[in-house]
Amino acid sequence: MHDDRTLVEDRLKRVLDERVRPAVYPESVPLDVAVWHAPGEPVPVAEGLAATPEPIAVGDAWGAPWGTSWFTVTGTVPAAWAGRTVEAVLDLGFDKNMPGFQCEGLVYRPDGTPVKGLHPRNDWVRIGSPVEGGEEVRLHVEAASNPVILDYHPFLPTELGDRETAGTRPQYRLARMDLAVFDETVWQLVMDLEVLGELMRELPVESARRWDVLRAVGRALDAIDLQDVGATAAAARERLAGVLSAPAVPSAHRISAVGHAHIDSAWLWPLRETVRKVARTTSNMAALLDSEPDFVFAMSQAQQWAWVKEHRPEVWAKVTKAVAGGRFVPTGGMWVESDTNMPGSEAMARQFVHGKRFFLGEFGVENEEVWLPDTFGFAAGLPQIIKAAGSRWLLTQKISWSRTNAFPHHTFLWEGIDGTQIFTHFPPVDTYNCSMQGSEIAHAARNFKDKGVARHSLAPTGWGDGGGGTTREMVAKAARMRDLEGSATVTWETPAAFFAKAEAEYPHPPVWAGELYLELHRATLTSQARTKQGNRRSESLLREAELWAATAAVRAGHPYPYERLDRVWKTVLLHQFHDILPGSSIAWVHREAERTYAAVARELEEVIGSAQRALAGDPGAGTSLLFNSTPHARDGVPAGGAARPAAAAAATRVGPREGGGHVLDNGLLRVEVDGRGLVVSVYDLAAGRETVAPDRPANLLQLHPDFPNMWDAWDVDEFYRNTVTDLVEAEEVAPGEEPGSVRVTRAFGRSAVRQLLVLPAGAGRLEIRTEVDWHETEKFLKLAFPLDVRADRYASETQYGHAYRATHTNTSWEAAKFEACNHRFVHLEEPGWGVALVNDSTYGHDVTRAVRADGGTTTTVRASLLRAPRFPDPQTDQGVHRFLHALVPGAGIGDAVREGYVANLPARLVPGDRDVEPLVAVDRDAVVVTAVKLADDESGDVVVRLHEAHGGRAAATLTANFPFTRVSATDLLERPLGEAEREGRAVRLSLRPFELVTLRFHR
Ligand SMILES: [Zn+2]
Repeated sequence: MHDDRTLVEDRLKRVLDERVRPAVYPESVPLDVAVWHAPGEPVPVAEGLAATPEPIAVGDAWGAPWGTSWFTVTGTVPAAWAGRTVEAVLDLGFDKNMPGFQCEGLVYRPDGTPVKGLHPRNDWVRIGSPVEGGEEVRLHVEAASNPVILDYHPFLPTELGDRETAGTRPQYRLARMDLAVFDETVWQLVMDLEVLGELMRELPVESARRWDVLRAVGRALDAIDLQDVGATAAAARERLAGVLSAPAVPSAHRISAVGHAHIDSAWLWPLRETVRKVARTTSNMAALLDSEPDFVFAMSQAQQWAWVKEHRPEVWAKVTKAVAGGRFVPTGGMWVESDTNMPGSEAMARQFVHGKRFFLGEFGVENEEVWLPDTFGFAAGLPQIIKAAGSRWLLTQKISWSRTNAFPHHTFLWEGIDGTQIFTHFPPVDTYNCSMQGSEIAHAARNFKDKGVARHSLAPTGWGDGGGGTTREMVAKAARMRDLEGSATVTWETPAAFFAKAEAEYPHPPVWAGELYLELHRATLTSQARTKQGNRRSESLLREAELWAATAAVRAGHPYPYERLDRVWKTVLLHQFHDILPGSSIAWVHREAERTYAAVARELEEVIGSAQRALAGDPGAGTSLLFNSTPHARDGVPAGGAARPAAAAAATRVGPREGGGHVLDNGLLRVEVDGRGLVVSVYDLAAGRETVAPDRPANLLQLHPDFPNMWDAWDVDEFYRNTVTDLVEAEEVAPGEEPGSVRVTRAFGRSAVRQLLVLPAGAGRLEIRTEVDWHETEKFLKLAFPLDVRADRYASETQYGHAYRATHTNTSWEAAKFEACNHRFVHLEEPGWGVALVNDSTYGHDVTRAVRADGGTTTTVRASLLRAPRFPDPQTDQGVHRFLHALVPGAGIGDAVREGYVANLPARLVPGDRDVEPLVAVDRDAVVVTAVKLADDESGDVVVRLHEAHGGRAAATLTANFPFTRVSATDLLERPLGEAEREGRAVRLSLRPFELVTLRFHR
């Protein structure tokens, strides 16, 4: 037989594009359109409906960037259409390729009832089926003229990302506002032809099935009268029925489709727009669930649900009704789909506490699956947090974005630093925006790495990023692939149903230990420094606020600010969303985040101040108390207590250095700062050894060009290292006003830096306080510490412990980690002697090593301070920034933990005369208390969370210095798991390495 394959394939494409698809709406009449442009920010629905609109015509421009326009469309269904299905087609000027990244709308009836959302792939509203003819149609559209930030030429700097700089030029032109007859049979034919055409292209050319489909398609095309598609569509469909009904082979891959709309809580749009995006998407999904009985839709991020409840009660009514039906499913059990690299221990835990509590409270639903399809890597501390929250499964597809190494599994056990294992699935479809294209389904089946031992995978299906969700076309295509020869099978299912099946079929999955590092988007650990500092500072203040408020409540009967703490926590958790904390949002988002963090700090300072005043006794007594918020004794004051600090140690001596510069000596360390302001020696007097490498100075600021190939705010590409400028020219190096300090001033490019190097009296650390007035473009600023240490690995603090990475680059996996995340410290050691670099607000760092000519090894730790990408925020990080770093020679891992807390919790001296006894005391430094608070159920119970922080076993006794009736171990949601072992007020603890424990003291 002659091979006419491409002839039929090309014929299918042209006939579909030019004849069959246009015949879905064979007749139409224009609607009358009027518009009211809301001045400024979005208005309440009632105000939009009540406004007086002006006429506007199809083809007219509308929509200043970030504006809201209320369209009113009116018309009459022609009498001649009686018995037909009629829809309004409302094309606001959509680009079909940009759902979620463009203008969008929400359609209302005149009474304010939401009907459904509009986006580029979903621009219809059903008027009736069948209509009688003569119906009056009146609809209102709340249209958002969100500008396109990520355009066809991506990553170009744009001023559109902030209302203040975006200008007023209209962004869109009304394209089509019609009433139209919807020909269901033609639409079904389109679905048949799309599914078969896409399947055919994925099948091997040698396979009989491919040719069966090809011939059937050819016969169907023969049956279509191109001048009257509607009259012949049914006959064409009949010719396809045979190939569509051939069942899948028994070994076919099985896909659980989950209707989904990934909605970034802020990204290329501000938070307020996400509130509306969620309303549009949920309206659409509630409507789709009504018409599609098999369809299942899952939505994550309790915050987004809470927005609908608070801001769009009319949409919330539809959502709660759909949830009750069981097919609109809350998923993920987190407050937002957060970053997981940077959130601190408690914040990561509270993501689950607040997420789960919302879904439990509203719907009685508890998620066992964690849903983080788009998060930029997963810290090794996360598994035990997931488990402690009462969850057991994790889903993400993001690791498929890694540029260097292909992850070896799609379904596996992920093992965290403490040994907790979480059953984890990476959808082999490699997207969270599956649209049920044949190529996607075939890719998932081919790509699945666990073939032969497992058969199920999950496909999150629907338009996402900017929302939109699943379309009726996706549902129609899924129905055809339910059991179709040559295809994987597709079944709509909840995430939990998928995980239960996947776990049951795969009893011994492979294990991956340690972090799930994303080999991409490494610069998200540094971009938008103020957002990162706001997060770190808020986390520290929340620790202090809970600790002192709980102490004041128990000790002094001071009211505990439940509502304030709950609200502030949710604000901080929201800003850990995977495009806010990582610094990858538009200018508007980060500018607003800065203001929000300032308000958070003000509110928490009030809580802390009020609690401390309630505890401190007489403020006029002429004495001051040190309130110690760290988990270890400080200046003679016990952890979690307050007292007058111990007498100060002998002052640090500052003297001239031979050859220029200054020498600082406090009896523990002797530090030499040369005439360039560089630290050339940090001598550990007790250990009798040098910290700084002989060939390179420390406290060296290094400036790199930084222009990645894509994703400017997200990515730093490895070649950035090839070019570097050492900032060694100093304008001034002089003793500082603060005792034991040296002041260094430099200028470079259009920027300036002032540093204060401080060797505090009696402390084994050199503090480096850096203030940068940053005005660079596409540069990366690092602070380098070349250390005379040889170690194969180093530790970085992560949630409830630390994780190790190699200092060498033997394998491609190690080489790819050229920029990584730490919380408060990195630490490296030779047996018996180590050194830590702690920080108050930076996360990115790199560690490299080189063997010197003298045989020794220089291991260089560099903290990442600032970047200056121009997309999506062209002014990223411009202006003044302040950082604290401290070098701690001779530090064991326990010292690194302790100094990390000290750097983040400045000592607070409060006037008063009454010592405060800590609520709880622990007799082992390795056991660190991360939270002391009152129980969220407002019972007055005291909740204490602690963990083993050194990576070893710890037997410890925790003593509660207040009366209680009994003590239970609980999960993160403070739900008792069992009684703890106690003797009087002492609780005996026996902890595994890094084990996390929550105790609840019933009062
Ligand atoms: Zn995302």
